[in-house]
Amino acid sequence: MSERPADWTRGVEVIRYQVCRNCGAKQYFRRNFCAACGATDRLAENQASGEGTVYAASLVARAATPETRAHVPYNIVLVDTVEGFRMMAHGDKDLAIGDRVMARFVPFAGRVVPYFEKIK
Ligand SMILES: [Zn+2]
Repeated sequence: MSERPADWTRGVEVIRYQVCRNCGAKQYFRRNFCAACGATDRLAENQASGEGTVYAASLVARAATPETRAHVPYNIVLVDTVEGFRMMAHGDKDLAIGDRVMARFVPFAGRVVPYFEKIK
C-alpha cells in the first residue's frame, strides 16, 4: 500500500475517496481492498471537489452524545458527489432531495467535519 494522504478525518479540510484501478469502482470509506471486486493493491486516492446532489436528508432532533447536544437539531444528508461516490455528512437544515450542494468544513462536537450547503 502506498502512503495515504490526510483528509478531514485527520484534520485536513479535504474530502478524499478511493478509485479501484482494477474495476473502476469508487468508495468513500477507506478500505485496504475494493468493496466491488476485492482487489487489494489497486486503490488510488483522489480528492473530491465537494460538489454533489442531495440523495437523502434527515433531521436529527435528539443528541446522541453530550457533545452533540448543543447542535440539535441538525441535518444529516447523503450526497451523491459529482465524482460518483455517496457520502454522509452534515448539511443545512433546509436541504431537500435533489438540491445541488457544495461542501465546506465546520466545527462539530470537537472536530471539523464536512458540511453541505445549497449552491445558490
Ligand atoms: Zn475493484
